[in-house]
Amino acid sequence: MTAEPMFKRVLLKASGEALMGSQGFGIDVAVADRIASDIADARRMGVEVGVVVGGGNIFRGVAVASKGGDRVTGDHMGMLATVINALALATSLRKLGIDTVVLSAIAMPEICESFSQRAASHHLSQGRVVIFAGGTGNPFFTTDSAAALRAAEIGAQAIFKGTQVDGIYSADPKKVLDATRFDRLTHDEVLQKGLAVMDVAAVALARENHIPIVVFSIHEKGGFCDILQGGGRMTIVTD
Ligand code: UDP
Repeated sequence: MTAEPMFKRVLLKASGEALMGSQGFGIDVAVADRIASDIADARRMGVEVGVVVGGGNIFRGVAVASKGGDRVTGDHMGMLATVINALALATSLRKLGIDTVVLSAIAMPEICESFSQRAASHHLSQGRVVIFAGGTGNPFFTTDSAAALRAAEIGAQAIFKGTQVDGIYSADPKKVLDATRFDRLTHDEVLQKGLAVMDVAAVALARENHIPIVVFSIHEKGGFCDILQGGGRMTIVTD
């Protein structure tokens, strides 16, 4: 028998890097399809899912700034990259028969709907997966901050931050062999220890709004649903 999900409405943050798979750039459709299948399973469990996608697999604003270009223009390019990823993930979800809508922070009505809190809540309550594109719509922010912001706006009970590893570690487990995984931390501890899991603005916003952050491996098939059902490997960040 399937356990009742722990949360009714969640916000999943998937970085652009996650969609890239083992390629050096862009979108690996097979990986997007796999992540979509986990989201589809969560939907079938009755969980309402909002998704914020990053853009780092295509473009990061700092890349322009670091070469003497204009950071704001670079960030605009980065935000456009998140729209490309959002469209790819929406395509993967629709192939699975999951009703999905893309809401962009930057209006581009020929391509997708524009974000409003009311539209997002309406689509979620109708059972649609809502993919939030365009980050916050502002330069000098990240899609982690967009995830915390959208989570607060839609009243998500948790932010699921999909990463390359299965939680928050004392050091990078890919570099430090004896790095240990935390089961549970507070938002304050994440900030005080400088644990690089989400940027400071995102963690502070989650703390202010009392939203737990679940850090888990986005590459583990079924991992998202296991955690939603009270199992799985992860670190949870709470008040
Ligand atoms: N970005 C931005 N404002 C936002 C969100 C993103 O300017 O609110 C830009 C920024 O240039 C960033 C890029 O979009 O580098 C891609 O987002 P992010 O680096 O957060 O993607 P991820 O690392 O999750 O793939």
